[in-house]
Amino acid sequence: MTRPAHAIIDTQAFVANYRYAKSLAKGARALAVIKANGYGHGAVPLARALGDEADGFGVACCEEALELRESGIDQRIVLLEGVFEPGEIDLAARHSLTIVVHSPHQVDWLLDARLTHPLPVWLKVDSGMHRLGFSGDTLHEAYHRLRSSDKVASILLMSHFARADETGAAATGVQQSRFEQNVAGIDAAHSLANSAAILAWPDTHRDWVRPGIMLYGSSPLADDRSHDEVLQAAMHLRSELIAIRELDAGDAIGYGGRYVCREPTRVGVVAIGYADGYPRHAPDGTPLAVNGHATQLIGRVSMDMITVDLGPLPDARVGDPVELWGTQVPANAVAGHCGTIAYELFTRVTRRVHLHYR
Ligand SMILES: *Cc1c(COP(=O)(O)O)cnc(C)c1O
Repeated sequence: MTRPAHAIIDTQAFVANYRYAKSLAKGARALAVIKANGYGHGAVPLARALGDEADGFGVACCEEALELRESGIDQRIVLLEGVFEPGEIDLAARHSLTIVVHSPHQVDWLLDARLTHPLPVWLKVDSGMHRLGFSGDTLHEAYHRLRSSDKVASILLMSHFARADETGAAATGVQQSRFEQNVAGIDAAHSLANSAAILAWPDTHRDWVRPGIMLYGSSPLADDRSHDEVLQAAMHLRSELIAIRELDAGDAIGYGGRYVCREPTRVGVVAIGYADGYPRHAPDGTPLAVNGHATQLIGRVSMDMITVDLGPLPDARVGDPVELWGTQVPANAVAGHCGTIAYELFTRVTRRVHLHYR
């Protein structure tokens, strides 16, 4: 197969980024979050690359956990939203999964389950994100029900931040103090920090950190680019020029004629489109690199192709490599132009794009 759209996944970049997360959160263990197929990078190859170095892995559901277990991954695996139905408790026990418990019905399911051995629980505290978790009296009630049950091997207290990427905002400090108030009197390990908190809020590191997006090379911090130099891109989305056109001033390119040439323009056609996961709403000016040189998207994104400005690249030829995001073009820069975040770019890469590991 020869369509040139592919993603090169740099597993060593992923490993280096994990080490960086651990170096920032000294003394804490780190749950490598590889839900959603490793944010689109392929969970199993990443887990294997980390090997024994990983303290554990975070996933969103049993299916994702079992894929890892079936590939021989025997570290701790945490189901970050716990189980979705009572039958999954037994499955979790049989595969030695750690379950998050965020709601009273999950406590009921666990206490009613018939298990051969008890499960480790990460009890979720709502410290202000108001999505999942217990607070106040319901937290203490859930804790005591779990604590006195022989279905529960251990309990860790976790919470999640809504605004840790905003380094100047008071919200993260407020969530931390609400967490402290809520858990007062409960003696347990803590896990609070996602990537943003690992990078920006050292007080939150505690016993377990939970890095996700930073492992893939993108800092989520909106207003602090200081980590961009250290973090290494784990995904390089690539394709090639499949045609080159010389257009006249006034010629309009592609669907809707969105881009109209102001002058005679050399235009490259690249084999990548929204059916590969390149964002269809990418505007003119979205950065990309041809032969390692920066240029930009011009014209609307099609299903299988995009058009790019070759004005700055008079030597470009059919077959030349194009990077859509990776080392030359940070995913955050593309995401910024497209009104989204690197998380979405990575997780939307489709099956049609072959992943190559190095
Ligand atoms: C996805 C997820 C993370 C990782 O978040 P990043 O912003 O990618 O670092 C951490 N904790 C929980 C509970 C998650 O669901």
